[in-house]
Amino acid sequence: MNAFFNAARRWAFPVFALVMLGLPLLPVPDFWITQSNMVGLYSIVALGLVLLTGVAGLTSFGQAAFVGVGAYAAGYMVVTLNASPWLALVVGMALAVVAALLLGLLTLRMSGHYLPLATICWGLALNYTMANMEFLGKYDGINGIPSLDLFGVDLGSGRGLHVLIWAVALVCAVGVTNLLDSRVGRAIRSLKTGSTMAEAMGISTFRYKLIAFILAAVLAAISGWLFAHFQRTVNPTPFGLNKGIEYLFMAVLGGVGHVWGAFLGAGVVKIIEDELQVLLPALLGSSGNFEVIVFGIVLILVLKYAPDGLWTFIQKRLPTVPRPVDWTDADHMAHEPKPPKGQRLLDVDKVRKEFGGLVAVNDVSFHIDAGEIIGLIGPNGAGKSTTFNLITGVLPLTSGAVSWRGQSIAGLPSREIARRGISRTFQHVKMIPEMTVLENVALGAYIRSGANTVQAMLALDKAEERRIFAEAHRQLKRIGMDDRMHELAGNLALGPQRLMEIARALCTDPSLLLLDEPAAGLRHKEKKALAAVLRQLRGEGVTLLLVEHDMDFVMGLTDRIVVMEFGTKLMEGTPAEVQASPAVRAAYLGTEH
Ligand code: ADP
Ligand code: MG
Repeated sequence: MNAFFNAARRWAFPVFALVMLGLPLLPVPDFWITQSNMVGLYSIVALGLVLLTGVAGLTSFGQAAFVGVGAYAAGYMVVTLNASPWLALVVGMALAVVAALLLGLLTLRMSGHYLPLATICWGLALNYTMANMEFLGKYDGINGIPSLDLFGVDLGSGRGLHVLIWAVALVCAVGVTNLLDSRVGRAIRSLKTGSTMAEAMGISTFRYKLIAFILAAVLAAISGWLFAHFQRTVNPTPFGLNKGIEYLFMAVLGGVGHVWGAFLGAGVVKIIEDELQVLLPALLGSSGNFEVIVFGIVLILVLKYAPDGLWTFIQKRLPTVPRPVDWTDADHMAHEPKPPKGQRLLDVDKVRKEFGGLVAVNDVSFHIDAGEIIGLIGPNGAGKSTTFNLITGVLPLTSGAVSWRGQSIAGLPSREIARRGISRTFQHVKMIPEMTVLENVALGAYIRSGANTVQAMLALDKAEERRIFAEAHRQLKRIGMDDRMHELAGNLALGPQRLMEIARALCTDPSLLLLDEPAAGLRHKEKKALAAVLRQLRGEGVTLLLVEHDMDFVMGLTDRIVVMEFGTKLMEGTPAEVQASPAVRAAYLGTEH
């Protein structure tokens, strides 16, 4: 059975590609070809929305406007300026990049519902611009766009163009697939639910929002360029808000988050659209764009009952195939030399954090030298995790100073602090549940790698990817979790999830590692194994700061302990001194045994 599924998986794409590219050669009616052309054009736009909305979590209602940018670039350049359609394609894509860059810089920092609202606004604005520009022919648009000519062959608007449209759609699908399985793709996949974690791994989430936005716009513009040569005319109607909603509907219906969902959604919407255009006027006794109403209702139903779209129903029936381990002989990633033992690494000077009236961290000072394992303990709510957040830039300081190897890092974003060699785990595990354990850990190697978006789309990053996975694999092995690397991170129990976070942090090659309750949820044997790993890390020159409630674990492992209570530092000393302190005992008596 598995062999069957593996074969099916391997052959699905080539067969699909062959069918779509070969369709015009078969004796199918012209009408089918026309519909299939539309599905291909839609799919390219929906592909961008899969990336932007499904994967990155940024909802756009305005995508049709970018289709218009590509289409009008074709119309204006080819008809009015008499330029080559290929130049028009380049110009259309460039315009889409510029427009997306400007709109993205203005709107992508918006949160919640403001971003979708903003996409409606600029979608409308771009559409009105097209409809009111004299040189774009106002509402009449631009007519007389010639058909495309490829190597001397006139593609026409039917069977010939079908080959080009589907070749482009398939190439785009391969590019997006490659992208999603790359360093850049993992960063984009962390945008929807893992921004804090991604930033703590050195990733600029804004940058990747912008990249996803630009890519989606470029895909839409490519579709628009093809559309112009398919329709041989452009006018503002197909690039309005209606169509923007329809594109979003395709992506959501097909399966936001899945490349093939874009094709499925585009196909299904096209079929429904055709049926409804016949059916609804007959039912209602008058004609009009009633299908938009039906789409709206169905969209709400889909969002409620099948939020992951139709593709997941197909995917669920396919067994998951573990990623082939092709990195066993990959080169090691370069390591930063660790600071010499005893060097002052971190100076925490009177750091303070107020949440409204609550002083969570009250002018706490301590320092960490290279090669130490420092414990940070205290009852629940003492301010330990907040202190971690202040050191790593996850939260801004109310006052105080933090310096790293003599230089202030206060006020830096957490990604900059991560780049300086400070990594961390979170008390409440932060991960991407729908990525495998291995992929989650690979996020840690982001700052040690460099493949860009274009390299990733063209699969030119494979040597580096092998190095990244080899490193992630190595760190998982060290933490005793390599046998679970192909599992989805969301399926792990809490203890293993914490270990996975440690492996991810180790993947950043840190000089200082901050662990927030690493042993919580672990069994006795696992705790002992973890302690051994932490000692080994110290031996390798990694400095550790850990928050932990298990006193045996802390006392046996640390060189020095800082005790906090109610946001204030109570004392600091060796494990023996802390154990002997009546003040510490009193602090713990209230909450623990
Ligand atoms: P610990 O990790 O020592 O258990 P925390 O640092 O998580 O303690 O919390 C310290 C105090 O700050 C607690 O009273 C907690 O309720 C409060 N606190 C933590 N984070 C926030 C926040 N984002 N907003 C408001 N209060 C917070
Ligand atoms: Mg805590």
